[in-house]
Amino acid sequence: MPTNSSLIEPKAINEISYTLYYGTFIHTPSLKELDISFNTIVGVNNLGVIDFIHKNYNPDHHNNMSPVQFFIKNRHFDFIDYSQEPTKFFVPGFIDTHIHASQFPNIGIGLDCPLLDWLNNYTFPLENEFTNSNSTDSKLKFAKDIYSQVIEKTLNNGTTCASYFTTIDPQTTNLFAELLLRFGQRGFVGKVCMDHNETYADYSETFEECIDSMNAIINHLHNLNPQDEILVKPIITPRFAPVCTRDLLFFLGQLSKSHNLPIQTHISENEKEIELVHDLFPDCEDYASVYNKHNLLGESTILAHAIHLTKKERKIIKQKNCSISHCPTSNTFISSGEAPIKKYLYEDEINVSLGTDVSGGFDSSILAIIKHCILVSHHLAMKTKNQKDKLSINDALFMATQGGAQAVGMADQIGTFELGKKFDVQLIDLKSEDSNVDVFDWQLPFKEHHTSIENHKSLSKDEQSKKMFDLLGKWIFSGDDRNCVKVWCNGRLVVNKVRYNHDDRWVMC
Ligand SMILES: [Zn+2]
Repeated sequence: MPTNSSLIEPKAINEISYTLYYGTFIHTPSLKELDISFNTIVGVNNLGVIDFIHKNYNPDHHNNMSPVQFFIKNRHFDFIDYSQEPTKFFVPGFIDTHIHASQFPNIGIGLDCPLLDWLNNYTFPLENEFTNSNSTDSKLKFAKDIYSQVIEKTLNNGTTCASYFTTIDPQTTNLFAELLLRFGQRGFVGKVCMDHNETYADYSETFEECIDSMNAIINHLHNLNPQDEILVKPIITPRFAPVCTRDLLFFLGQLSKSHNLPIQTHISENEKEIELVHDLFPDCEDYASVYNKHNLLGESTILAHAIHLTKKERKIIKQKNCSISHCPTSNTFISSGEAPIKKYLYEDEINVSLGTDVSGGFDSSILAIIKHCILVSHHLAMKTKNQKDKLSINDALFMATQGGAQAVGMADQIGTFELGKKFDVQLIDLKSEDSNVDVFDWQLPFKEHHTSIENHKSLSKDEQSKKMFDLLGKWIFSGDDRNCVKVWCNGRLVVNKVRYNHDDRWVMC
């Protein structure tokens, strides 16, 4: 009689500890070969994989060490110890949930231009350069220069994962994904989709071209990732409702479902833009309803800006479990407004993350966005005379890390230090070379190179934590990329600025 397979608990996936086996091992490495090995040490890791073999072990040849002592001595692992250096600490890698890679050269350009003019005057002409059909070589070179620089720059600022907008062009978008892998940054790659650009018709695509491009990108990225790892992933990117036909919006909603891909777009950034959406979609009650009607709102949707949302829109966004990407630098630079983030976080319980929004935002560092989101919230609080509108350091750091992880659908993999998560981390050093942070000895939570027992004698744990929190404030408000001295992504060191004169102590065990 067949067994109901749901009742079977497979024995061969039980949890196991790292185990050393010691004895005689016999096997046949090839058809004509029988191998008999006595006194052999075999190590099996917790995935059930053999990762250590030493045949014919003889304690006489190894200072009479037992097999276990010998294994520990010969096990190579790096031990990196910063525990006695009070100005160095680890924080999770930053997650930038809204950044336009293609707009990187426009950083700092276009002050005082409201959104719709800013797009026509600065953004569309630059993005159009990526679509040059006359020469593929020069197009790829143009894109490579810009894309390499934006990835390097953000990594150097501690961003280990970002959700990018590229342009409408599929070739250079595929190149961008390859560069992410090459530099070692985790990335969501969003080819911009827009088949209705009335105000700047030169930079647009047809519905059919968009379908072809999306298919090409999805296939390319699928083949690009290493086995058993997803380091780069396509993200469905309708630019924003005014430049997309209803057919395209419906298609993109379906594409997200059929390929299980996340979605990113803009919403309620500017009052003129909201009016335009109302005129173009008179059958929809509000901006959020346009996206909702086309099946674009879900738990893997990132909505950038979200400054002027109505109560009803906030309710839909919460119900659909979407995330907001807050872009305070851009919102200030192009005078779009002050988003009431504290209300979104605590009243509506919407997940909010942070975005640099390069180049509406002039800084590609999430540390800078942390500063700006706190300052913008203080301005909002002064305006509303409500202290509750102020964001704290904790709020900002959460949005920059775990909030970002949730926004990109990786809350269980990155964003905090937890068992089972990937090691996406930055090492901060307040005393790095040329550091802008000034720290006095009496501000340290413990004295350098003292043992922890001695430290506890002088300060209580609470006092030490308080001093460390103050150092965190110093880093956030006066620190910059010079303090981000090392960056790891997926456990691999991808940025190392401490090549010379560093005092990392390595112990080979
Ligand atoms: Zn944007």
